Amino acid sequence: MPETLTTLISEELIAERVAELAAEIDRDYADKGELVLIGVLKGSFMFLADLARRLHTPHRVEFISVSSYGDRVSEDPGAVRLILDVRHDIGGRHVLVVEDIVDTGHTLSYLVRLLNARLPASLKTCTLLRKPDRSQVDVAIDYLGFDIPDVWVVGYGLDFAERYRTLPRICALKQAE
Ligand code: 5GP
Repeated sequence: MPETLTTLISEELIAERVAELAAEIDRDYADKGELVLIGVLKGSFMFLADLARRLHTPHRVEFISVSSYGDRVSEDPGAVRLILDVRHDIGGRHVLVVEDIVDTGHTLSYLVRLLNARLPASLKTCTLLRKPDRSQVDVAIDYLGFDIPDVWVVGYGLDFAERYRTLPRICALKQAE
């Protein structure tokens, strides 16, 4: 294997934090009725599944998928493109966007703008991980799992070239020199 993995967040620590986040969300939505959880594919699939199973608040699950243009469009490196939209109208609904990781913030900021334009009753954001040192866009995060350093992480939904997504823990990946 050309890469080395170092555990950053253990399975136990993830489970503990996910339970705490679910309890916080339950408290905040206690009197609000049904919640729409929108998972951002593919990275959030494991986090969303664990979080949703911990929630007592009635909810439905939707998915959305975006891709970054990255460096290919040099005039606007933060540009984000919608690949797959949610299946149902979110107008008048309480919505929680569930992300795996906020890096520069461009993706979450794009999603918040896109979804707010559809006039939900409320829109909040939840991310398992955030890299504060990489932030370029100010975007509100209502529920945060962990702040992590500026390293490439894999596992618990996150990949490196589509590998390592199903590792149960979060690891820092170092490529061979
Ligand atoms: P943004 O820079 O827009 O906040 O994040 C863009 C996307 O880059 C994230 O949704 C995630 O898919 C990916 N990303 C950022 N940092 C990492 C990382 O450390 N590991 C993995 N697997 N993906 C990351």
